[in-house]
Amino acid sequence: MELEKKLLSIIVPVYNEEKNIPLFYEKIQAVLGVNYAWEIIFINDGSRDKSIIELEKIAGQDSRVHVIDFSRNFGKEIALTAGINSCQGAACIILDADLQHPIEKIPDFIAKWEAGAEVVVGVREKNKGEGLVKKIGSYFFYKMINQISDMEIVTRATDFRLLDRVVIDEFNKLSERNRMTRALIDWLGFRREYIRFEANERIHGVPAYSFWKLVRLAFNSVISFSLFPLKLAGYMGVIITFLSGLLGIFIMVDRYITKELHFSSSVILAVVILFLIGIVLICLGLIALYIANIHAEVTNRPMYIVRKKK
Ligand code: UDP
Ligand code: MG
Repeated sequence: MELEKKLLSIIVPVYNEEKNIPLFYEKIQAVLGVNYAWEIIFINDGSRDKSIIELEKIAGQDSRVHVIDFSRNFGKEIALTAGINSCQGAACIILDADLQHPIEKIPDFIAKWEAGAEVVVGVREKNKGEGLVKKIGSYFFYKMINQISDMEIVTRATDFRLLDRVVIDEFNKLSERNRMTRALIDWLGFRREYIRFEANERIHGVPAYSFWKLVRLAFNSVISFSLFPLKLAGYMGVIITFLSGLLGIFIMVDRYITKELHFSSSVILAVVILFLIGIVLICLGLIALYIANIHAEVTNRPMYIVRKKK
């Protein structure tokens, strides 16, 4: 009797990729070997071009292909979430439709998975045709987020990933709206392995992530994985209060004891105001701590993740 083949799901977010879709579909045939059953889930994220027509054409010919058609553009992070939510496989592989994630690496991902990894992460070595601004931006982003957040995020780790069914099930329980999919996957933990790859150049279309969209994404992920920005006001308050307090004492000593420097009354006023501003900032910092608690509660992440119960 033939053993039932494991199902693998391929998840592909699509935004304005009409020219890339046929290429992608053609190339992916080569890796869909006979050792597994396959499903391909395309998420059409409100494309403005003819992507949906291309996708429906493919889905019409091939019953392994499924299309989730969003009513408008919700962004890649949400598109990936929809794909992960609806996939049926024993594992899923996420990759971009623009052929920048080398399709021929998929067997390597599967090999690592078969060897026991629960998350396999593609790490980009070089990105051909990537602008300097984007390069510098991503360098500083990873430096900063690793400094201020509680977990380690590997530099240049991409969305090109394989997730085991246990990870998919845990991911599906997360309910936060403002999300960065790969950071959430990192947060979940599990046994991880890395595969290095060189990103190809985009052949057709333009990257949808503009500079400002990336900046916004970076801000969102800093805010959702770190409390540092919240505490910043409090820290500044402590420093300002301390320094202006010292200055105030110094002025008092001069005024009533040493009587040498003769500070003008506007200087004294400035120091008093500075001191009070410091106190206000400290109060803001205190409020921020309460907001941090509320934030943690409404994000509603599970307190812990269990791999297996015996
Ligand atoms: N994408 C998406 N929704 C968006 C923007 C992009 O689904 O709002 C898809 C896009 O079709 C591609 C992938 O996400 O498959 C990566 O997008 P892009 O190539 O623009 O980003 P980059 O390669 O610069 O990370
Ligand atoms: Mg791309």
